[in-house]
Amino acid sequence: MNSCDTQSGLLPIGTALERLVENSKPIAGIETITIAEALGRVLAESPIASVSVPPADNSGMDGYALNTADLTDGVTRLAISQRIPAGSSPQPLQSGSCARIFTGAEIPVGADTVVMQENVTLDGDLAVFPEGISVGGNIRREGQDIRTGDSVLAAGVRLQPADLGVLASVGLAEVSVYKRLKVAILSTGDELVEPGLPLASGQIYNSNRYILTGLLKSLGMDVIDLGCIADTREATLEALERAANIADAIVSTGGVSVGEEDHVKGCIEALGELDMWKIRIKPGKPVAYGRVKDTPFIGLPGNPTSTLITFCLLARPCLLGLQGAAYQPPIVLSVPSGFVRNRAIQRQEYLRVRFEDGKLIPHANQSSGVLASASWAHGLAVVPPNTQVQIGDSIGFIPFSELLT
Ligand code: AMP
Ligand code: MG
Repeated sequence: MNSCDTQSGLLPIGTALERLVENSKPIAGIETITIAEALGRVLAESPIASVSVPPADNSGMDGYALNTADLTDGVTRLAISQRIPAGSSPQPLQSGSCARIFTGAEIPVGADTVVMQENVTLDGDLAVFPEGISVGGNIRREGQDIRTGDSVLAAGVRLQPADLGVLASVGLAEVSVYKRLKVAILSTGDELVEPGLPLASGQIYNSNRYILTGLLKSLGMDVIDLGCIADTREATLEALERAANIADAIVSTGGVSVGEEDHVKGCIEALGELDMWKIRIKPGKPVAYGRVKDTPFIGLPGNPTSTLITFCLLARPCLLGLQGAAYQPPIVLSVPSGFVRNRAIQRQEYLRVRFEDGKLIPHANQSSGVLASASWAHGLAVVPPNTQVQIGDSIGFIPFSELLT
């Protein structure tokens, strides 16, 4: 693995992402679970439909099923020879008659059309049909949704509610999915204190632990929380080794710079393989990527906003790849800017913004130390390197819904 490879020494995010995705193949085992348990899980195999959906032609309306050939030579009235509610098994249609039929009921053999009940009048026992019936109308055809033998969803799909419905529609009660990825998280920093405890001078509360736990749970992964790690080489080595023994992947926060109190870099080099990336984004300081023994490792910067954003942009696609999910870049919408930015910087900037009245409105304080900006925002505005922004300019907008689940 190479380190930074551009003139500026900063790696473009696209290059970092390519490397991460390329190196992130499924590592979790496979298990079979019921579809009731499968929300958010990643399909390991593509199921094959053993039935068609719908399994037979059925009525799209409450109305009358008929063979339009019976309405020749001025005939407009047909006797009603059977009643077919949804769930019943129809008889073949008697020639010269029609059938009362309801939405979802199977079309009887011999009928070619359903006329909606609003267009039919009754004259005693006879149904009176209008002129100009369109042949084949109001019939939902067998297999119009899925055909027997079709592969239903691709391996690598993260199952959403509609997907579960599709699996159910072909009668599948169980699916083969990747086991939940077990991700160990480490919060480095001597200054960190857990919420609920008193704060002494020099201390701050540990936000990242809860940001990471929330992010990983939203991705359907299991969190192994190794808590706070002291800023010493011994504590960092011990925690990383433990993490590598019990988890499929490791994510740490803080301590990835090259200061005297930053031990992550040296420890990864001692235990495995390290690639330090200075990525051309703001916020986001160096991100460490590598392995502890054979376990994939990502070290995120400590500022909570940087932790959140580098997780969303880099750790998320890496971990989803390890989980077996097919790579899907986030949808970037093009939205008019509601702000001016005269200062152009060399890094790609991710502003915390709201989408209001069709425009992007940034939080007033974009410092990476202001986590409230992320909590307030609807998503991230992407300002490319060396770019000024005027009101009304088209700006890339990634809603958090694209990044947090
Ligand atoms: P570091 O990357 O360790 O130099 O940390 C950068 C900044 O983020 C420092 O101001 C840290 O105090 C802060 N920080 C690091 N970890 C956390 C955490 N878990 N929660 C809140 N702030 C943190
Ligand atoms: Mg630190």
